[in-house]
Amino acid sequence: MTKTHQQPLILLSDKSKVLQERLSTFPVTAVLCCDSLYDQPEASPLLEKLRQHTGIFILVDDLPIRAMRAKMCDILREVLPTAEQATEKLFVFNFSQGEFRTVKSITEITGEGTGTPECVDFSEAIEPRWYPIVDKERCINCFECLNFCLFGVYGVDRDERLFTEQPDACRDGCPACARVCPTGAIMFAKHLDPQINGEAIPSGSEDITAAEARTRAKQEKEKHLDSLVDVIDQDDFLG
Ligand code: SF4
Ligand code: SF4
Repeated sequence: MTKTHQQPLILLSDKSKVLQERLSTFPVTAVLCCDSLYDQPEASPLLEKLRQHTGIFILVDDLPIRAMRAKMCDILREVLPTAEQATEKLFVFNFSQGEFRTVKSITEITGEGTGTPECVDFSEAIEPRWYPIVDKERCINCFECLNFCLFGVYGVDRDERLFTEQPDACRDGCPACARVCPTGAIMFAKHLDPQINGEAIPSGSEDITAAEARTRAKQEKEKHLDSLVDVIDQDDFLG
């Protein structure tokens, strides 16, 4: 494969040294490595580098695939603005499938051959983060999460769609709005519950109308308001 700017770019998050060495001979534009994509600050050099690429993106991560796919779509919203483009150009794998299967899956995208990609290590001491990732393909913009959250995490963009305006205002360990969201669109990638971290679609939210979504969100909101108040009380106590 000839090296062009359209060649794939690989991002290895929470990297494996063996995988890194193996992929550094692949026919791709670049292999970028970091300790965690999820924890990258919004304006990190790594995210800037990703946004400069115009070809195919391959992400290998250790957090749930659905959450990390939505995270990449968020980072690349200018580069891959439509769901169709994301389907064509974004591939996400999880380390749990093992190195052999990961290499095989990547080869199916890049094709056989050898290359000398740019390899950049973006590992540096970064603070662990905790914030919601919204799956835009499931979000119906009912704004129940926005009305529920007391900390200004969510906002509404110019197109009247929900977005995470201040992700780092989210309370550490709080997954309350993921339970309030009627469509299972909100994910906390580091949470242990598969229905919260994106591994599974919360039962009952597979195909839901906007009206049903509002009714369910109202019920869930009443149920989970208590837990949010507990978080606030604890913050007051600590701080
Ligand atoms: S509650 Fe869920 S579906 Fe409604 S706006 Fe928030 S993320 Fe979207
Ligand atoms: S988890 Fe809690 S603090 Fe974080 S966005 Fe949801 S409601 Fe707000």
